[in-house]
Amino acid sequence: MRQDFLIVGGGVVGMAVAYGLARAGQRVTVLDERDDALRASRGNAGLTWVQGKGIGMPRYAELSLDAVQAWPAFAEELQARTGVDLQYERRGGVDLCLDADEAETRQAEYRTLQTVSPRLAREFEWQYLHRDELLEHLPGLGERVHGGTWSPHDGHCNPLYLLRALYAASLDLGVTLHPATPVQSVARRAGRFVATTPRGDIEAERIVIAAGLGAQTLAPMLGLSGAVRPLRGQIIVTERLPLIDQLPTPQIRQTASGGYLIGDTHEDAGFDKGVTLNMVNALAAKAVRIFPRLSQARLVRAWGALRVMTPDGNPLYEASKACPGAYNINCHSGITLAAFHAGDLARAILDDCLSQDFPQFSGERFHVPA
Ligand SMILES: Cc1cc2nc3c(=O)[nH]c(=O)nc-3n(C[C@H](O)[C@H](O)[C@H](O)COP(=O)(O)OP(=O)(O)OC[C@H]3O[C@@H](n4cnc5c(N)ncnc54)[C@H](O)[C@@H]3O)c2cc1C
Repeated sequence: MRQDFLIVGGGVVGMAVAYGLARAGQRVTVLDERDDALRASRGNAGLTWVQGKGIGMPRYAELSLDAVQAWPAFAEELQARTGVDLQYERRGGVDLCLDADEAETRQAEYRTLQTVSPRLAREFEWQYLHRDELLEHLPGLGERVHGGTWSPHDGHCNPLYLLRALYAASLDLGVTLHPATPVQSVARRAGRFVATTPRGDIEAERIVIAAGLGAQTLAPMLGLSGAVRPLRGQIIVTERLPLIDQLPTPQIRQTASGGYLIGDTHEDAGFDKGVTLNMVNALAAKAVRIFPRLSQARLVRAWGALRVMTPDGNPLYEASKACPGAYNINCHSGITLAAFHAGDLARAILDDCLSQDFPQFSGERFHVPA
């Protein structure tokens, strides 16, 4: 059967777009690698988060706001279609500041965002709270924490359940999935797009590269930049502990099963997604500084994963001029943006108006003028 779209990459970005396109009636095929592939979607922190987004590019903060506003209906819809509980909550979140300098810098950044964007001035709600004021949101917060920015927009989910739900919902809508089918090359032939794989060539009318770091090699084959690089993050997890009514933070959050998920490292380590003892130690020390009660908690897991980073850290939504009908989609906030990727972004791809609707995110911003 003729396919409308090939999606290269079955991570959270590719699957959100696949789901959005299939929901709009498109025939979609997804090609993905094996389980040993680099996959940020299986190693992230699960935050649906607005704070910290768009510093230097307010449009990204606005997009994140759109995404978190769409998230409750998105989560409800996925759960209704698949029965998978995403453990999604949006009760607000706190981005901690360990010292006064961090607190000053953060507040200045948010004020600047609101000066340049009238929409953010109206809609981005946040407040700096000193450590004592944060205690109602974060019981037992350590005395060596200065404070943090609180915002009602932020939330969290179980990112593995999100991925599972996207797969289940997409299959239910008739999406064809080819796992363990690495794409070796992509090309346009006779007006159609062809992905060459060890299983043979697979074709469709249009193609979306959503291959995370794989965009580096695949996107340029279709005149797209694929300007991404790896940035490692390490995460450690404690044993299950009694649930406490508290808000998530990017530094630490308690998951629905009781474990504390700790981690926000940003390391240039090439394609090495390993765990290092010094980072595990640093994360554990930070966790105890934030919540001294964790000093006796046992660690049960640690992992590293590679972020998909663009040169400026903002999403990359590219439509090829050389090969119309080919798109490249990258971002380092694929959980937060999932509701948007399945909604407005999938619609813009379907209507072929990505460059018009989201010009700020095109790859052209990375071109060096002659
Ligand atoms: C430590 C860490 C914490 C994070 N925390 C958060 C957070 O709290 N909230 C948030 O919103 N985001 C977070 N992120 C970012 C988020 O995980 C990523 O934005 C998201 O997972 C990117 O998804 P992706 O589908 O683009 O990439 P990936 O998950 O890397 O998926 C790419 C897929 O493409 C496939 N692929 C690649 N090349 C090929 C090929 N040639 N042929 C076929 N398939 C191919 C791969 O096998 C893979 O399945 C975090 C990331 C990390 C590393």
